[in-house]
Amino acid sequence: MRREEMLARAHARTEPWDIAIIGGGATGMGVAVDAAARGLSVVLVEAHDFGKGTSSRSTKLVHGGVRYLEQGNIPLVMSALKERGLLRQNAPHLVHDLAFVVPNYSWWEAPFYGIGLKLYDMLAGKYGFGASKLLSKEETLERLPGLEPDELRGGVVYYDGQFDDARLLIHLAMTAADHGAVLLNYCPATGLTRDVEGYVNGLTARDEESGHAITIQARIVVNATGVFTDNIRHMADPAAEPLMVTSQGIHLVFERSFLHGDTALMVPKTSDGRVLFVIPWHGHAVAGTTDTPVDEPTLEPRPYEEEIEFILDTASRFFVRPPTRADVLAVYVGLRPLVKGDGKTSALSRDHVIHVDTSGLLTITGGKWTTYRHMAEDCVDHAITLGKLPDSDCRTKNLRIHGYLEDSSSLGGLDVYGSDAQRILALAAAEPALAAQLHPALPYIAAEAVWAAREELARSVEDVLARRTRALFLNARAAIAMAEPVAKLLAAELGRDQSWIDTQIEQFTELAQQYRVV
Ligand SMILES: Cc1cc2nc3c(=O)[nH]c(=O)nc-3n(C[C@H](O)[C@H](O)[C@H](O)COP(=O)(O)OP(=O)(O)OC[C@H]3O[C@@H](n4cnc5c(N)ncnc54)[C@H](O)[C@@H]3O)c2cc1C
Repeated sequence: MRREEMLARAHARTEPWDIAIIGGGATGMGVAVDAAARGLSVVLVEAHDFGKGTSSRSTKLVHGGVRYLEQGNIPLVMSALKERGLLRQNAPHLVHDLAFVVPNYSWWEAPFYGIGLKLYDMLAGKYGFGASKLLSKEETLERLPGLEPDELRGGVVYYDGQFDDARLLIHLAMTAADHGAVLLNYCPATGLTRDVEGYVNGLTARDEESGHAITIQARIVVNATGVFTDNIRHMADPAAEPLMVTSQGIHLVFERSFLHGDTALMVPKTSDGRVLFVIPWHGHAVAGTTDTPVDEPTLEPRPYEEEIEFILDTASRFFVRPPTRADVLAVYVGLRPLVKGDGKTSALSRDHVIHVDTSGLLTITGGKWTTYRHMAEDCVDHAITLGKLPDSDCRTKNLRIHGYLEDSSSLGGLDVYGSDAQRILALAAAEPALAAQLHPALPYIAAEAVWAAREELARSVEDVLARRTRALFLNARAAIAMAEPVAKLLAAELGRDQSWIDTQIEQFTELAQQYRVV
């Protein structure tokens, strides 16, 4: 993917696009893949970098949602379990099975969770990831050696999926681009255009790098801006009734030694009635999450002190070695795009919603990462009807996602790149300096930064360290130390000077401080 070429295609187009998408998270990128794979012409604009919003800040689970089962939302669980299976089938380099243990400290927990998780297995049907079963106390401790053994009675093991959210997003972008879509990061939509009858027929955007305005004509404009959904709806109709509420969830990242093995811990009921996961991810342990209502969405939400304390406190009850603030390598925060309801944000449905405003603006929101494909299918079906676009069936059920590789286990830290890993290794082989690790605490090598700039539309140090690699999310202090070498590599690739390097280091360091708990 080349930004200059994408921009040139956007400027040169004189015909209306079939679909213009605002928002480059899981939802918007899913729509781009679906529409482009059906042969429709597609352009997508993202205000910042792809995945800057919620889609890089999830718990990293591809799951049916055990919690939604408890809420009785069987259709949502079934649909998500099916999507979980399709995603593993289409992106085996990115989606892996993961064993979760629910530890039992009361007599009623084994039968209660045991039966619930058998139902979860049943609902998955042919898309199952493995059968759940009851564990003895010894078996539970074998899987989770760090677990508090006092009063432990046993556990239940079940299976779900795990992934790297920002990496999947970039591979979705590459899949959409492979099918002809034009994707522009750092291009916020600044307004909507209308035809003589007042229907939305395009948008205006600004290329943040050059400052130039871009006008995009489109038969259908899709609003996929997550927690910013109402901002775009208000561009079409300032009086539109708000659709969204927002809540934030934080995650704390620790050394892997807190978990020891490859099994995740699932706490089905915390003191505030939520679910808490501690999962192994990229050689670390990630604990989360919380659910705190937020008034005004921002792109860089901050954790509340109480949220940090809550996770530390809950984790401490389950681990022999209680994690402390000093053990936190990074904290990251995501905002949930929730569709309005009456009760608590944690009780609001995770179903997706498609909304057509009187202006013809098509909004898709809600849902979850796991269901992005199904959401996109639904959205493009609506777009075809609404915009009288050439009709064709959805092709994504069996569409391989960029990087598809059945077995990437021999690729070490480059496994998430799937089939692209060989090309990154070739870069490192051609120039030995690029084989160097960027920091001893993390596996990333210099060639990954070069690859990100050349092929994955990375434009800044933050793009490379937060989303093309996951350094910032894994170890904020190490990421700060990586800023200088990454800035130099990017400057060489993008033709930037020393003052750009200095500004990049300064901006990234300031941002990364927010990912530290001091
Ligand atoms: C804490 C937390 C944990 C989660 N864990 C999981 C999980 O484990 N599994 C799971 O399946 N789901 C999970 N989810 C849900 C999932 O992450 C979200 O449903 C999904 O990422 C939402 O994607 P989105 O594209 O709708 O929003 P976003 O990713 O936020 O994308 C919206 C994009 O729109 C852009 N934008 C805004 N305004 C404009 C504009 N004017 N012009 C252009 N672009 C604009 C933003 O910059 C942003 O990138 C979690 C959510 C949270 C908050």
